[in-house]
Amino acid sequence: MEPIRLAIVGLGKIARDQHLPAIMKNGDFALVATASADGASVVGVPAFDNLEALLASEMGLDAVAICTPPQIRGKLAATALHHGVYVLLEKPPAVNLSEAEWLADLARSKGATVFAGWHSRFAAGVATARAWLANRQVLGATIVWREDVRTWHPGQDWIWRAGGFGVFDPGINALSIATHILPQPLDLTDAELEFPANRDAPIAARLSLQDAAGAGIAVDLDWRQTGPQTWDIRIDTDAGPLKLSEGGAKLSLPSELHQGKNGEYPALYARFSDLVRNGESEFDTDPLRLVADAFLRGRTIRTDPFFD
Ligand code: NAP
Repeated sequence: MEPIRLAIVGLGKIARDQHLPAIMKNGDFALVATASADGASVVGVPAFDNLEALLASEMGLDAVAICTPPQIRGKLAATALHHGVYVLLEKPPAVNLSEAEWLADLARSKGATVFAGWHSRFAAGVATARAWLANRQVLGATIVWREDVRTWHPGQDWIWRAGGFGVFDPGINALSIATHILPQPLDLTDAELEFPANRDAPIAARLSLQDAAGAGIAVDLDWRQTGPQTWDIRIDTDAGPLKLSEGGAKLSLPSELHQGKNGEYPALYARFSDLVRNGESEFDTDPLRLVADAFLRGRTIRTDPFFD
């Protein structure tokens, strides 16, 4: 089978850390171009200034992976879809729910694939956690996602601007796991968002969620953590506790321990390949909906200004 001719749009941290290695190791894809506003490139791969120039070159492109900040992702995705080019969207897949729904509709009308790539759902422990929880009664859960923004997002101005998501940029990864593994849909009942006095996006957030059976889920997101970092989910059930740690890579069940390698992006690309080959799309908006609800319903607390 011919490889899927793929381009990367936006050559920043995640494109270099995860997308490039995953693509290079997957024979289903051939990286045929990159598009970068600041002239970044990959040795031996044709480079363009932007997606429009790449599409105008008519080099023959099947798909793009859009690795830019979310504020400009929707327009780029729409441009690609209008040219019949299939789209992998980094998370969060759109800047708001209307844009997400509009992109999903556009892909449907064009018969093209669009994939909202919730990479954390491909962490090693997540599929087993989901299967284990399917027949269990959930009594309650806690999600703690605390990391040091200076370590993980140094100098990323866009993340602090409107539409940059602030602490929900990593926090939505936790929500993408929770909405995937918990057997019941989730509703947001309360939220508190801390905004630095000089920024348009929150540095911390505490959410109260409830599942359809009434179980409470407390979510604690914070970007001010120094020292050891925490990416943990604990779910109490009628059969004992389930714990996912290290962002979903490590799963602890009442009588078993699973420790996997961080294979999120290889698995993400394997899924994208399946979707493209089968002409299907996957665009789950549940994690984005919870974040939107938190902004709609949350109380605002002003806190100390943040400087990088
Ligand atoms: P980044 O390092 O800031 O890279 C984003 C890239 O997008 C830039 O290098 C730039 O590439 C391009 N870009 C286009 N317009 C831009 C603008 N107005 N401002 C800034 N950059 C612009 O960000 P990142 O960490 O790779 O994150 C990108 C996306 O991946 C985000 O949605 C994030 O949530 C997601 N993600 C990040 C991580 C992580 O650990 N960093 C993990 C998983 C997912 P060119 O100059 O080449 O166009």
